[in-house]
Amino acid sequence: VVTSLLHFTRKKERYEWIQLVGHAGAFKEGYHDGFILKELCEQERQCFELLQTDALRTYVPRYIGTVHDDEGKDYIQIQDLLATFRDPCIMDCKIGVRTYLEEDLAKSEKDPEPRHDLYNKMIQVDPLAPTAEENEIQKVVKPRYMMWRETLSSTAELGFRIEAIKKSRGLMSKEFQRTKLRDEVKKQIMEFIGNSLPRALIGSSLLFVHDNNEASIWMIDFGKTQPLKPGIKLTHDRSWIRGSHEDGYLIGIKNLIDLFTDIIED
Ligand code: ATP
Ligand code: MG
Ligand code: MG
Repeated sequence: VVTSLLHFTRKKERYEWIQLVGHAGAFKEGYHDGFILKELCEQERQCFELLQTDALRTYVPRYIGTVHDDEGKDYIQIQDLLATFRDPCIMDCKIGVRTYLEEDLAKSEKDPEPRHDLYNKMIQVDPLAPTAEENEIQKVVKPRYMMWRETLSSTAELGFRIEAIKKSRGLMSKEFQRTKLRDEVKKQIMEFIGNSLPRALIGSSLLFVHDNNEASIWMIDFGKTQPLKPGIKLTHDRSWIRGSHEDGYLIGIKNLIDLFTDIIED
């Protein structure tokens, strides 16, 4: 299944900006050439600011502050990673072994009422997923649903999942929610790489962009990236157990590198 593209066209350059995921309207043309606006989330803004002087800064879009538009909405102004590409192929990989905060899990537990709608969503995807008790009441509690959802894609096992792929001039696909097995993921990545030089694409990131000339990888989307609470240390390479706050970021990166290495050597 292929979905239509969200884009805006630059007046001056007749250049199409492409947004793969996230809600429509979260992005706008920037006030400076080569920059775009993303809806302000204070947590993400702080993260962008800190990353500008961090060792990781070359892997992160440049951030040049916030703007307030005519309608009174606030945005962060960040580097447009597509600016130098022509008809790029773009892939968004969400990194980590889970995609919700422990805080959100805790919040969902405060409302322990089992839900019929979540049960229905579950059986629509996998009729065998509910337990005998869940089938009995035809309801599922939210935290259980949240954890189950991460096992559908490659998130829980490989530490990353493909969110969307847009091939140059081609349409975009976001139907990867159930792309789970390593070989399936590998097939998708190979199609994304196409005939371009795979070595330029190896690396740690979320947004992969390439055209016939260049290729790059960027870390984007820090909406849920938080400073660690005092006393908490992360290895980023251990599986998550409740309370550890481990994100599995390096598990995802390692599996991505393994897959790309596989593809080169094949
Ligand atoms: P979600 O939290 O649902 O993943 P979001 O609203 O936080 O979405 P992002 O994940 O930051 O948004 O970005 C959504 C999409 O917008 C990306 O997949 C990518 O296609 C595009 N995008 C984001 N930042 C940039 C950038 N700096 N330059 C070019 N494209 C970008
Ligand atoms: Mg995102
Ligand atoms: Mg986000």
